Amino acid sequence: MEIAIIGAGIGGLTTALALKKAGISFKIYESADELKPVGAGIILAMNAMRVYSDLGMADKIARNGNRISIINLTKPNFGKLSSNDLGFFEKQYNVSTTAIHRADLHKVLAEKVGQEYIVLGKRLQNIIRTENNHRLEFEDGTSAEAQYIIGADGIRSVVRTLLFPESEYRDAGQWCWRGVADTIEGLETYQHEATEAWGKGTRFGFVRLNDRQVYWYFLVDKDRAEADSDIMPFLKEYHPSVAQIIKATPKENWFVSPIVDLKPIQQWNLNNVCLMGDAAHATTPNLGQGACQAIEDAYILGKLLQKHSINEAFRLYPLLRKQKAHAVVNMSWKIGKLSHLRNPLAIAFRNFVMKATPQYFNRKQLGRLLVLQNKVD
Ligand SMILES: Cc1cc2nc3c(=O)[nH]c(=O)nc-3n(C[C@H](O)[C@H](O)[C@H](O)COP(=O)(O)OP(=O)(O)OC[C@H]3O[C@@H](n4cnc5c(N)ncnc54)[C@H](O)[C@@H]3O)c2cc1C
Repeated sequence: MEIAIIGAGIGGLTTALALKKAGISFKIYESADELKPVGAGIILAMNAMRVYSDLGMADKIARNGNRISIINLTKPNFGKLSSNDLGFFEKQYNVSTTAIHRADLHKVLAEKVGQEYIVLGKRLQNIIRTENNHRLEFEDGTSAEAQYIIGADGIRSVVRTLLFPESEYRDAGQWCWRGVADTIEGLETYQHEATEAWGKGTRFGFVRLNDRQVYWYFLVDKDRAEADSDIMPFLKEYHPSVAQIIKATPKENWFVSPIVDLKPIQQWNLNNVCLMGDAAHATTPNLGQGACQAIEDAYILGKLLQKHSINEAFRLYPLLRKQKAHAVVNMSWKIGKLSHLRNPLAIAFRNFVMKATPQYFNRKQLGRLLVLQNKVD
């Protein structure tokens, strides 16, 4: 085994597929006893789907999810502020943005990687440098040797903490509730659309995962709610379908988490260990790009490993990826603030600007997100 991947999340599993394609031997060590993704649904934008197309996975993922061809930003009553038709990019890239249940995405990826490459119940605790290798020490008292390590262990990365203990989290001051409702009542017409409605210091988003299910999320400023607060009073300003969809989801199936990101760090690799995905550049979810950026990391690592030694690939990979990943983190942070304005005058001005923004400007912005770095020499 040349490379140990720590973490079997979307980033770790996609990296494994990219390593397989590059002919590099690897093993994934995952802390959970079973692969059970936390969360509800996820939207894979076309940059991610282009990577999966390169890995021969796009069709399978698309079949397990729902094509999304329009992205709407709206007022709480679903009155449109902006609407982006993705048809232009679908034609250009020959893939579609796809909404999928996280469990389904994990299943498809893990099956393709192969269970024999994934060791479950191994929570990494420490990394010791030996003469030619690294010794991975796990919480259960066992250890393993690896020449190279990829830390794909998410925002609370142990690998990153061992490498760069000075890295800092930033709390965006918002709670996010997420769920999947087994009904599409009231949202039948939004079959291939992702919609986010901006209220006063709150936000509701939804997207259909298939003919029966809707993935939804709802955010509230932290100074107005606790993780266990009743969110129903906040829904009064929203379209009646919002409360209906949330109520249709059993509370025990809701997920609630604070919105946190990682203050951009400048170094992603040290001594044959490198970071990827949320471990390297966790972002707030406001652009729906966190996993997409992890998937792009995997793609670049894989392409580099097809041409270079592992040492060289680890050295070049952050140089190729940092600029875009950090741009996403910074842009997403700003959108998080803009979407939670509370002052009515500021909201009216923001909405006016959004309505007046020409389509071609939005398309240009979106185009920047969907571009894949494909020059890896
Ligand atoms: C509310 C919300 C909505 C989002 N929506 C979207 C979206 O629509 N589109 C999108 O692209 N992104 C979205 N994201 C972001 C996306 O979920 C993350 O960016 C993505 O999951 C990161 O993948 P990862 O593999 O880097 O990390 P993770 O998914 O966190 O995976 C890390 C893995 O490592 C394991 N692990 C952790 N510690 C250890 C250890 N010590 N030893 C061994 N294993 C360990 C974990 O169990 C886990 O399996 C959203 C995020 C949030 C919070």
